[in-house]
Amino acid sequence: MVDDSRAVALDLLEFISASPTPYHAAAEAARRLEADRFVAVDPTGDWSPLPDRGYLAAGGALVAWAVPEGAAPHAPFRIVGAHTDSPTLRIRPQPDTGRAGWRQLGVEVYGGALVNSWLDRDLGLAGRVAVADPDGGRPDLRLVRVDRPVLRIPQLAIHLDRDINDKGLLLNRQQHLTPVWGLGRPEPGRFAAFLAAELGVNAESILGWDVMVHDLAAPTLAGPDDDLISAPRLDDLCCCHAGLTALVAAPADGSDVAVVSLFDHEEVGSTSATGADGALLASTLERLVLARGGDRQDHLRALAGSVCASADMAHATHPNYPERHEPDHQVAVNGGPVVKVNVNQRYATDAATQAGFEQACADAGVPVQRFTSRGDMPCGSTIGPVTAARLGVPTVDVGVAQLAMHSARELAGSLDPGLLVRALTAWLA
Ligand code: ZN
Repeated sequence: MVDDSRAVALDLLEFISASPTPYHAAAEAARRLEADRFVAVDPTGDWSPLPDRGYLAAGGALVAWAVPEGAAPHAPFRIVGAHTDSPTLRIRPQPDTGRAGWRQLGVEVYGGALVNSWLDRDLGLAGRVAVADPDGGRPDLRLVRVDRPVLRIPQLAIHLDRDINDKGLLLNRQQHLTPVWGLGRPEPGRFAAFLAAELGVNAESILGWDVMVHDLAAPTLAGPDDDLISAPRLDDLCCCHAGLTALVAAPADGSDVAVVSLFDHEEVGSTSATGADGALLASTLERLVLARGGDRQDHLRALAGSVCASADMAHATHPNYPERHEPDHQVAVNGGPVVKVNVNQRYATDAATQAGFEQACADAGVPVQRFTSRGDMPCGSTIGPVTAARLGVPTVDVGVAQLAMHSARELAGSLDPGLLVRALTAWLA
């Protein structure tokens, strides 16, 4: 088990390295699925006959499925949901700025970032760029990735901020987070020209971008016994990776249709064309039924029997802040998957879905933990309640324990990713 978990952890590190942005995560997921004989479908095409193992990629999101042999059109779905996006800093549309002899790039904070964690890191740039078609057709969306330390947000020296260690670091999102990217006067168009040079195209052909920063420190096993993972974007690439790994192992002779849905925009509320509060998953599930000869009645029958596991990271009990956690629901790193419960429906888990997931853990020989937040602290949320509401499908919220959630550099256990893969594999079967 330990060796198996180590292999999963090392594979997760590769997945995270390949995925500095949601667009890269979706592309890496597609690459891995194709290596396991999953076939891409065109969203504008006819899906009949439907590939038994297929996927739909949409920007920073991806939905993949495995239909068992001979499954009826109204066969229920077993859906694993996760999200590809993480808090970061994204480049504004007119970013060229600066003062005091420095060139800087204007950024906006994406999601609930621990903004202090982005200070004094060597930062690269990645995302996607709209490039004009020389023949006047639709713009080409090209992935870009710069793994050189082109940006840095330097912290103010302690000599100029003597109270910081006692009074805390206050960062104004407009004033204090603008990265420097060299010396000289700001020049409008310089960033577009930089992207053009990276992509090998003319500066005039750069029409727009969804580009963000990423920390260049590589993900790694950590701790004297390699029992930790130190990495960016564990929330939620860890669960994207587990869902994909479990789907690839889905049996061809099962009864339910296994689905993995990797959504974008969870960190900003999920309301988008590729977010969990959009139509992407519901319309894809309906097309899976229609393309197999079913009708809307079959689709609604399938949904009525379906169940969803929303897989997103969970808070391990922090050794320096144990009072921030519910004392009777301690969560340990490398203690196995975490079932998240909130009676106010910040998590979608109920008794039935909890029982189903914990039974799968028991079948797989995997320990399971339970999380609830303190009564005097607000609870976070995730895609579980949104997905449950959009589809009308009972859902369990599960996750992997970690510290430093939403930091540029997060910390988790190296056994837990493998344990979640085993739990989700049993749950999907
Ligand atoms: Zn998350």
